[in-house]
Amino acid sequence: MDHTQTDIKFLAGVGPKKADILNKEIEVYSVEDLLYYFPYKYIDRSRIYFVHEVDGNMPYIQLKGRITAFETAGEGRKKRLIAHFTDGTGFIDLVWFQGAKFITDKYKVNTPYIIFGKPTMFGDRFNIAHPDIDPYINEEERQTGLMPYYNTTEKMKNHYLNSKAIQKIMVGAFSSFAKNITETLPEKVITENKLMPLKQALRNVHFPENTSLLRDAQYRLKFEELFYIQLNILKYTAERKSKLKGSVFTKVGDYLNTFYERNLPFPLTNAQKRIIKEVRQDMATGEQMNRLLQGDVGSGKTLVALMLMLIALDNGFQASMMAPTEILATQHFHTIRELLSGMDINVELLTGSTKKKDRERIHNGLLTGELQILVGTHALIEDTVQFSNLGLVVIDEQHRFGVAQRAKLWTKNVNPPHILVMTATPIPRTLAMTVYGDLDVSVIDELPPGRKPIQTIHQYDKKRGALYESMRKQLQEGRQVYIVYPLIEESEKLDLKNLEEGFKHIQEVFPEFTVCKVHGKMKPKEKDAEMQRFVNNEAQVMVATTVIEVGVNVPNASVMVIESAQRFGLSQLHQLRGRVGRGADQSYCILVTPYELSAETRKRINIMVESNDGFEIAEADLKLRGPGDLEGTQQSGIPFSLKIANLTRDGEILKFAREIAQGILDEDPQMEHPDNLVLRRQLRKLGGNRYNWGLIS
Ligand code: ADP
Ligand code: MG
Repeated sequence: MDHTQTDIKFLAGVGPKKADILNKEIEVYSVEDLLYYFPYKYIDRSRIYFVHEVDGNMPYIQLKGRITAFETAGEGRKKRLIAHFTDGTGFIDLVWFQGAKFITDKYKVNTPYIIFGKPTMFGDRFNIAHPDIDPYINEEERQTGLMPYYNTTEKMKNHYLNSKAIQKIMVGAFSSFAKNITETLPEKVITENKLMPLKQALRNVHFPENTSLLRDAQYRLKFEELFYIQLNILKYTAERKSKLKGSVFTKVGDYLNTFYERNLPFPLTNAQKRIIKEVRQDMATGEQMNRLLQGDVGSGKTLVALMLMLIALDNGFQASMMAPTEILATQHFHTIRELLSGMDINVELLTGSTKKKDRERIHNGLLTGELQILVGTHALIEDTVQFSNLGLVVIDEQHRFGVAQRAKLWTKNVNPPHILVMTATPIPRTLAMTVYGDLDVSVIDELPPGRKPIQTIHQYDKKRGALYESMRKQLQEGRQVYIVYPLIEESEKLDLKNLEEGFKHIQEVFPEFTVCKVHGKMKPKEKDAEMQRFVNNEAQVMVATTVIEVGVNVPNASVMVIESAQRFGLSQLHQLRGRVGRGADQSYCILVTPYELSAETRKRINIMVESNDGFEIAEADLKLRGPGDLEGTQQSGIPFSLKIANLTRDGEILKFAREIAQGILDEDPQMEHPDNLVLRRQLRKLGGNRYNWGLIS
């Protein structure tokens, strides 16, 4: 029995009730879970300051002194308890907005205390709200050094589980269970890379003796975390490669050549050429291709996809393209049809609303092989859809497709088809290495020539008059306009511009133009019809929710107005902005917000105003919000949260961990060496527990 699996309710100071809170609030069930619940920061408590040294820029301060008197001030909600505190060099106020009785019962005047907290200026005096207070015993017994801080929730605090309480429980956990901590990395990995052994690392991360030991401990734990993710991905990739054989596309034939000579509407960009070459080589190796193609919005991925599908056709295979929505699939279908006009290629569209009769025809065509390119939605992966010889599947705007759905495609052919996943959501490199660690990545890093960069403008919602005037000007020049709202129904926030209201309002403001409306709760048919009206320029203004986020291509649209832009994440704003700037004319993106904005939101808006570069924006997003909370990654389905490593900052450790993992697998693919058994054990264990490995691929 592994003792570190002991239920935390048996720990000193925990018990069933607190255990329940820890289970629910922070997913800590066992002693081991607790040991892996790491502090989010450390504060140096060795230095004691004097009151006369206090200044308003200090994030926190530690003082030694005594309370001279308590006093209650204010009325109602502003009522507060104040303690006047001095150390002989000056006075500072300690303030509590609740729990006055508890404080006055517990703390006495004229008794030496160590207090700790953030000083703020209030009136002409500094105060510290809700300080930590400890009795001062003597210098030897005072807790000094780095003090760990643990994240706690409101609920935990209500049950006396604040950071300090966690620390106390941690002390107990260590004294009872430290002897049971067993190493989780092979001996060789530890010694060769001079890593701190696990027991010591866990001890130092919770009770750091000094900053240098703390750093070594954190390094070891970050390494381990990233190492196992990489080991898992690499092992999975190797297995897949050995199991699956890919179709070999050896030649470029008539279809591609004819298309290139007669139908290509514009010269390819260098980036497009490079990708086509890369993928061609990939599809000729005999291994099944799994490639992620990242290209900013408007970089011309559709054309690349089509040319790659033609290579499949040239080699006697069928090809297929999947899109996440009916609108998008339909649009791809029309684009591809048009691009292939005059060529003898059989293309069909299959979606949820394809009629039974057409469906039967399509099923037949696929089986006989007459049908060469099938464009569609999820409908494509249904079991009833059988191909005669499917060679390549392109998945557009990948983040809407789950991995399980992708895997289903493999069964569509004797040899699994090559798979090209296309996404406009730029994924920072470190994240790509983690989330898509088994996919090869290609990047289109160039936009077609002649595009004017989109001008992004931040506009306060009070200045609606000016906004409507500039929209009207564009409309009068024959351009079209999108207006996006964050929600479709009146929400609890009444100030939120509502789509329905907005729709009526816009109709009133622009009576001379036709306004259409698209939102997520419409039936696909209705949605498509409205969309089509905009595509055909029967409607000049489209009022929509974020359903138009991906893919839609209306080059004549030159203005994207985003209402309540403060409610959107950076990558979403970038995606939406990408709906314009697709033609040769100057396009605009207008971010409408109220005047009052948080500092973080203002930063986000400024990044949008200053940058058109999706990768730069994705990096900024990662930095601003951290990967766990990153919208782009949620969309791309990051299946786990990291406990200690940080993908923004620990890119180097990640690369290193990946190298080490690869080295081990090269030497011992099955991890059978006695030294490596620990790896198998850990993978098995983590598989059932901390990470949802099944989703990583
Ligand atoms: P995305 O990568 O966002 O899917 P699309 O494939 O929709 O981009 O292409 C955006 C627009 O750019 C389309 O109107 C397309 O016809 C055009 N386009 C694609 N490649 C080129 C090129 N090499 N030169 C000029 N325009 C191009
Ligand atoms: Mg696209």
